[in-house]
Amino acid sequence: MLGKILIANRGEIAVRVIRTCREMGIATVAVYSDLDRDALHVRAADEAYAIGGEAAAESYLNTGAVLDALERSGADAVHPGYGFFSENADFARRIGEAGVTFIGPSPEAMEQMGDKISARLAADRAGVVGVPGRTEPVTDPAEIAAFGDEYGWPVAIKAAFGGGGRGMKLVATPEEAAASMESAQREAQAYFGRPEVYLEKYLAWPRHIEMQVIADTHGNAVWLGERDCSCQRRHQKLIEESPAPGLPGAVRTAMGEAAVKVALACGYVNAGTIEFLYQDGEFFFLEMNTRLQVEHPVTELVTGLDLVEWQIRIASGEPLGFRQEDVRCDGHAIECRINAEDPAGGRFLPSPGKISRLVPPGGPGVRLDAGYASGDTVSQFYDNLVGKLVVWAGDRDAARRRMLRALGEMEVAGIATTIPADRAILEHEDFIEGRHSTRWVEEKLDLSAIAGPQPQPEVDGDAGTGEDRSLREVTAEVDGRRYALRLWVPNADADADAGPRTTQRPRRRDNPGRKVAGSGASSGHVTVPMQGTIVKVMIAKGDTVTAGQAICVLEAMKMENTIAADVAGTVTDVRVTAGDAVGPGDVVAVIE
Ligand code: ADP
Repeated sequence: MLGKILIANRGEIAVRVIRTCREMGIATVAVYSDLDRDALHVRAADEAYAIGGEAAAESYLNTGAVLDALERSGADAVHPGYGFFSENADFARRIGEAGVTFIGPSPEAMEQMGDKISARLAADRAGVVGVPGRTEPVTDPAEIAAFGDEYGWPVAIKAAFGGGGRGMKLVATPEEAAASMESAQREAQAYFGRPEVYLEKYLAWPRHIEMQVIADTHGNAVWLGERDCSCQRRHQKLIEESPAPGLPGAVRTAMGEAAVKVALACGYVNAGTIEFLYQDGEFFFLEMNTRLQVEHPVTELVTGLDLVEWQIRIASGEPLGFRQEDVRCDGHAIECRINAEDPAGGRFLPSPGKISRLVPPGGPGVRLDAGYASGDTVSQFYDNLVGKLVVWAGDRDAARRRMLRALGEMEVAGIATTIPADRAILEHEDFIEGRHSTRWVEEKLDLSAIAGPQPQPEVDGDAGTGEDRSLREVTAEVDGRRYALRLWVPNADADADAGPRTTQRPRRRDNPGRKVAGSGASSGHVTVPMQGTIVKVMIAKGDTVTAGQAICVLEAMKMENTIAADVAGTVTDVRVTAGDAVGPGDVVAVIE
């Protein structure tokens, strides 16, 4: 058995791996960037090594620094978590060359599944049908027109090396083909370092259902049930559950067997996930993730298995201790992702910052896998997943109600989170009835009533409706009973009756952190709502602009946000250029 494991990751997944190691009596080594010196995963580990840097490329993706920490610590294995190096075959090879165990599949299996085109070919060889589409890069817009005529419009152009919900573009008509192809290639090169794009039929109303598999070095491979991850925004998952509601047993078995076939065909070892799109009773291979998934806990709760423990056992050379017929899935598990994002109005804007208070929920059937605690800061440089709330209950509706109860108990202050969106999903009739699809959150769910973030507990502002109102939270006693009231007060009234409270209650213009991207102060000072980097400036001094016109693009937490003018006029000052780092409230341009 392995004796000491270095976790080449941060946040909740590093903490998650450390927890199982501790239960198994295995020593743990954390690595940390300059920003993570006091992070939860560092506090949780037995030892920790600085790898320097802030941005991922300088720190958690710095091969030399991680290898150096590995050598200094004397760890005999590396757990990559997800993201960062987890699907990087070169990194896995370097680990192997250093005589250290990589807790994951072989570099060759990673390479086969590493890009979407070769993964489609591998699935095809295993006899598993993919989403209708091509298995070679598209280079001629005429191919797109022909494909659309054959399979219907819109057509999906996907980056072969894409990931993280980015890299898919829809083409609605043949006329758009050339421009869309070029822009997809350009984006693929910019985001993933490779320009190859290919075509897939765009399924209109699919569910995202994926199969957990696990395989050992002795030729055993089993499937551990599915996860339904159809609640997504920007093609990124928000809520996952197991089992998938309404999935017929025969389809589940066929999907599980298909997943095992794909795994065996690429010589897969360790835990992996085969993703499918499911529509009208049919399922289609989407891609394989050759690592632990964010949403693995729902599988753990229904199977009773610790997937990290089995990853470690398999990497140590142990055979799987169970066969397919031994796998039992009981009850129902749901996971909600708690991201530092403001879901007001369905915009899901990044909301980095200091968590002034985090109160975890408790009680029966509740598990919180978090990467942060009260007082920790969510940096704009990394993924904004604060943690995952996971519940188990005997059936789906009991799990759903338990999750709502747990979300109600959970308190996160100082940053906005996806909790209000998670609640809205769980309470919606379409979700309850299992009528949702991967497009449902963005197309059907109405998040307009969700208020904006509350950077200060006693004060808030923009209700997310664009109206000039402030949210105030007050407590009141009525007949001896205490009530917590949330009041949306028109700003004029709020100012008129503000009195001495104005000293405690910053006015809207003093707190630009609440404004959403796409708006600026009506004074003509266009400000950015959050910390980030300017990637593009679209206007110059002297330009005439209209209200709503794009001024610049701000990248924060791996998301691009367009900052727009909210008044018309002439640009008299431009205060940023591409590459500049900005903070909340910084003025980027002045319009008169
Ligand atoms: P990534 O690697 O970026 O996660 P995926 O290929 O796994 O990308 O797809 C992510 C999500 O995008 C899917 O869960 C689904 O919602 C959507 N998607 C991808 N391909 C298609 C398609 N051909 N038709 C409809 N939706 C798709």
